[in-house]
Amino acid sequence: EEAIEKLPKVELHAHLNGCIRESTLFDLAKERSVTLSHEHFHHQDHQVPSNSSILDHDDPPAARFFNVRPRSLQDCFDIFAEIPKCVDDLISLRRITLEALEDFAKHNVVYLELRSTPKQLHVQSANKTGNYGAEQKKPRLASKKDYCHVILQAMEDFEKDQNQLNLKQEEQRKIANESNAPSSQQGPIPTMTCRFLVAVDRSHSNETAMEHIELAKDLVQSDEYGYRVVGVDIGGNPTKNHFHDFRPAFEVAREAGLKITLHCAEVPCHDNDDDPSNKRVVIAYDEAKSILEFAPDRLGHALLLPPSLQSMLQKSKIPVECCPTSNVMTLELAKDFHGSLLDGMKQHPQLPLWLESNHPVSINTDDPGVFDTDPTKEWRLVQETYGLSLERIQQVLLESMDQAFCDTATKDRIKTQMKLAFDS
Ligand code: 5GP
Repeated sequence: EEAIEKLPKVELHAHLNGCIRESTLFDLAKERSVTLSHEHFHHQDHQVPSNSSILDHDDPPAARFFNVRPRSLQDCFDIFAEIPKCVDDLISLRRITLEALEDFAKHNVVYLELRSTPKQLHVQSANKTGNYGAEQKKPRLASKKDYCHVILQAMEDFEKDQNQLNLKQEEQRKIANESNAPSSQQGPIPTMTCRFLVAVDRSHSNETAMEHIELAKDLVQSDEYGYRVVGVDIGGNPTKNHFHDFRPAFEVAREAGLKITLHCAEVPCHDNDDDPSNKRVVIAYDEAKSILEFAPDRLGHALLLPPSLQSMLQKSKIPVECCPTSNVMTLELAKDFHGSLLDGMKQHPQLPLWLESNHPVSINTDDPGVFDTDPTKEWRLVQETYGLSLERIQQVLLESMDQAFCDTATKDRIKTQMKLAFDS
């Protein structure tokens, strides 16, 4: 158990707003007098009447917003709609970014690719009386570029702080060694390298998709943080629209040298659906096929591929970003097992096959806030379900680093750092 916690980890699939800590969501909601939709609360204390506001309680809330019961994919999208009501300005955006980075680093993530859909947020949120800061009477909207800059600057600051902390600890160790005093320090904490993917939300228009790809291209050119922007993603509600609509935007991204990851097959799709009225299943099949034909650099989830598309995936060797807890939740695999993640995980439709056949795969959190998870929990779940050895886990982690979108020198540096940690 402890060994898994200590392992240097790689996180390739995490949505920033889905990383929000529950406590932060409640704080921000309180500051803004936002009442979060009650449908999503699971009352741990049945004394709490379902119509009372969570914000009435100053004590730690008796209800949990996040992952305390199996929730459908639709439930998740309802929750995602609540979060921007609270993360509505650049200040709260910086806060959730720094907290997300801190949370990943705590689990020894040495390489993180964080993704987010650029939004136009207020520069500063309205306070309770409706004023927007001291001087401004009206809310001022920041640009989507500003949104990305806040995330990239937070990454910059976080890495700098980590490095300074390491230097300080190194000095303290040296002093302790010279004076032969017993050192309380255990060795340098691994520093986390952070990269960013600009996300496209498929429930928006293809013009917005193109705008986000152009924004990614523009950000890459920036001297300041360009190297941190390594790719683009399409996510959002998989029952909305079709990849066809967005393909031209992703062709532009590919031409510009951006790496591409596409969410794929999150909803059922069959090549021979007997019920012709089940149009969505047929559309989903057609879409999954065209995503595989497009051959992105990685795929998100790729959960519900029918056998014909599974073999297409196996041949393509496109790496898959697997998000175990998220998969169990959104497929409602734990529903018949009183919510046991472990029993649900045993029903995972693809991961055992990928592991057995050595298909390139990474293990990720997806939305650690919403799914109440972290990289250690994800790896424990996988280890317990499939009984993987520590060596096999280390192998998957090193291979995940090969699937990263950063440059080769960065990959090699991190892989060396990981191997050293495995051997120690
Ligand atoms: P954001 O992009 O706002 O930082 O992160 C939250 C967004 O990520 C959600 O609104 C949704 O568009 C996307 N997202 C998070 N988790 C999932 C998932 O499991 N599947 C899909 N398709 N999209 C997701």
